[in-house]
Order: sequence, then structure tokens, then C-alpha cells
Amino acid sequence: MSDVEQVDALVIGAGVVGLAVARALALAGREVMVLEREAGIGTGTSSRNSEVIHAGIYYPTGSLKAQLCVEGKHALYAYCGERGVAHSRCGKLIVANTASQRAALPSILEKAHANGVNDLRLLDREQARHLEPALDCMAAVHSPSTGIVDSHGLMLALQADLEHAGGMVACHAGVEHLSATSAGIDLHTQDGTHLRARTVVNAAGLSACDLARRIAGLHERHIPQPWFAKGNYFTLSGRAPFKHLIYPAPEPDKHLAGLGVHLTLDLGGQAKFGPDVQWVDAADDLQVDPARGDAFYAEVRRYWPGLPDGALQPGYAGMRPKISGPHEPAADFLIQGPATHGVAGLVNLFGIESPGLTSCLAIAQRVVAALT
Ligand SMILES: Cc1cc2nc3c(=O)[nH]c(=O)nc-3n(C[C@H](O)[C@H](O)[C@H](O)COP(=O)(O)OP(=O)(O)OC[C@H]3O[C@@H](n4cnc5c(N)ncnc54)[C@H](O)[C@@H]3O)c2cc1C
Repeated sequence: MSDVEQVDALVIGAGVVGLAVARALALAGREVMVLEREAGIGTGTSSRNSEVIHAGIYYPTGSLKAQLCVEGKHALYAYCGERGVAHSRCGKLIVANTASQRAALPSILEKAHANGVNDLRLLDREQARHLEPALDCMAAVHSPSTGIVDSHGLMLALQADLEHAGGMVACHAGVEHLSATSAGIDLHTQDGTHLRARTVVNAAGLSACDLARRIAGLHERHIPQPWFAKGNYFTLSGRAPFKHLIYPAPEPDKHLAGLGVHLTLDLGGQAKFGPDVQWVDAADDLQVDPARGDAFYAEVRRYWPGLPDGALQPGYAGMRPKISGPHEPAADFLIQGPATHGVAGLVNLFGIESPGLTSCLAIAQRVVAALT
């Protein structure tokens, strides 16, 4: 048998969630190592998203997504303020351009209220256009607590806190397989390293389900089927005439897997549109097909008729790590600890799609709780 190095706690995956979990464990006094397959932190979904701090409006009341988004939003604003992570509480407008979207706006306020988001305001067309003169809509909902964050800056701050508390990140350290033993959880990396840990957190994002299948001792009934829903973005050349994020009001039949083609701004004021929803077979299918641009023009012009021809360029794509399929309601976050699967010291994080960035600090607290 190869030499085994003992480590107290291992976190697999250095995305925003893995780093937040590792930081929380280190701050709780644990000796923590993060194992990351790639050459650096945050090269997965954590750097391919909208960078929106969500308010917590849409998620089913009582779900983990609803709870952790609201908790995470408050924690994230406070953390960004303390640690100097660039962010902006720019607010968003949820806009209605059809009678059915208009009819749905009051239910958005009710759902938000039930989720603990009490600052939404219903606006008529004139009030909305007063905030955003370039906008066309019948009515809108204003969410003042929605914002944007520099996700890479956030991850660097989390990593710095982890290292300050004595933890470390090891890159080029892809985990191949694991086994639960009476002495702890054994883990083998692609370069032949053999580690044994009291605690292992599987924060491998798009690979979390696949990795869980390589944990000897974890029964397969606890491992959901992974699904991949790509979200394509198109960027706007030139400046957008908007200061708020602009989201179409949900249309139940259309927006089963995402929030509709919305406009988000980066901290420099540059705009992008997306993500759309494209179900694909492979997690690494991240090319943006320029032909999808036509549908973007049509969607965006519903609320911004002034979008000039030729202004959209294919941008980037991110992949949603889903655990529910195309015709199913969106599954909740799955934070699966020993109480569920019976493997001491193991936590699997499955289906950490949006609002995972917003929720990262709150997810980290739940993971620490699942291990104590
Ligand atoms: C299109 C899109 C838009 C989104 N927009 C938002 C938004 O605006 N706001 C919001 O709150 N959330 C948003 N999200 C969700 C958010 O981006 C994710 O929830 C979050 O980034 C997940 O972070 P993570 O750390 O779990 O996963 P990842 O960032 O994917 O990190 C997982 C890491 O694990 C590593 N890894 C995988 N397998 C192994 C292995 N075997 N060994 C070692 N390392 C491994 C990977 O290399 C990767 O670095 C969006 C997601 C998508 C797809």
C-alpha cells in the first residue's frame, strides 16, 4: 500500500462554493486542504455566470435555494464590504411586456415576501421608464437589493482568508477515486497521491455526481443523475443605456430552467445578455453558436426596442450543474451529509446552480453544520 498522508479536512473543487466551505471549516479551527483539478482557482462555473447577487425572489418558499439565497445575499454584501471585494447594489427591474407577464407580477411580490424579501415595489410603465427611459414595458417590479459582484475578487478573498487561517489550495490535484474506511476517507489524486481525511466535501460542481460514483462505500441510490443546461451569453458592443439589471418577468412555460434572457451589467458598466437555456450532453460543451443570436435580438427587443442591429457579439457560455431534467421542475440544492448517506465525514454538494454564487457563504455554514 502507498504512503498515506493524513489531513483533517479535504474540499474537492476550488470554485466559489468549495473555497467558501474551506474558509468556513478553517475558521472553525479545522486543518483544511482544497484539491483542485485545474491550474488555478475558479475556472469552472464560478467564472462563467452572470455575477448577480440575487435577492431571493423566485425560489419555492422554504427551499434551500430560497433560504440560502436570502441568507447568502446578506452575508455576501457584508463580506464584500469588509474585505473590499468590488460589488454594486445596482438593483434590478423585472419587466412585463405581455398581459400574462403583467398578471404574474403581484405573485412575484407575494413569493418574495414569503421568502423574506420585503423591499420589492410594483411600478407602472411611467414609473419604470422614469428609472430607465430606454425601457419598454407594461409594468415592472423593482428589486433594490439585487446587485453584482466581482466573482474572481470574491474567490481571491475567500482563498486569502483560508490561507490566513492555515489552510491551502493545491492545484493540478484532480481527485480520481475515494473510499470510505473505518479509519477515515481515503482519496487518490491523478498524480498518485494518497490522502486520508476525517472530513471530505465534494464541491466538484459539474463533476460532483460523477465523482460521487467513484466513492466506494457510498450507495448509488444517494447519487442523482446529472443534467447539463448550457447558458449562452451575447455581449453588447457599446454602452447600454441601463443602470439596473433588466429581467423579463417569468413565463412558466418558457423559463422552466432559467430566468429568461436578461441584461446584466459588469462593474465597468458593460452589458451582456443571457443566459439562454440549451440542454446538452457534455459538461464541457462551452462554445457559443453565433446563430443563437437571432433569438437574443427578438427576446431583448421586447423590453429594449432600441437594440441596434449588429450590436450583439457571441460572448461566453456557462453550464448549469442540474440534477433535474428538461421537463421537470428545477431541483433544489442538495447538501447531502452523513445523516442522509451514512458515510461519516462526507458531504456531497449536488445541483449547486444559480443562486450558488449568491449563496456561497450560507452554503458553507450549512456544510459546517452537517459535519457537527
Ligand atoms: C449560466 C450561469 C449563470 C449563473 N449566474 C449566477 C448568478 O448570476 N448568481 C448566482 O448566485 N449564481 C449564478 N450561477 C450559479 C453559480 O455560478 C454556481 O452556483 C457556482 O459558481 C458554483 O460554484 P461551485 O464552486 O459549486 O462550482 P465550480 O465553480 O464549477 O467549481 C467546481 C470546481 O471543482 C473542480 N473539480 C471538478 N472535478 C474535480 C476533481 N475530480 N478533482 C478536483 N477538482 C475537481 C473544477 O475544476 C472546478 O474548479 C450561474 C450559473 C450558470 C451556469
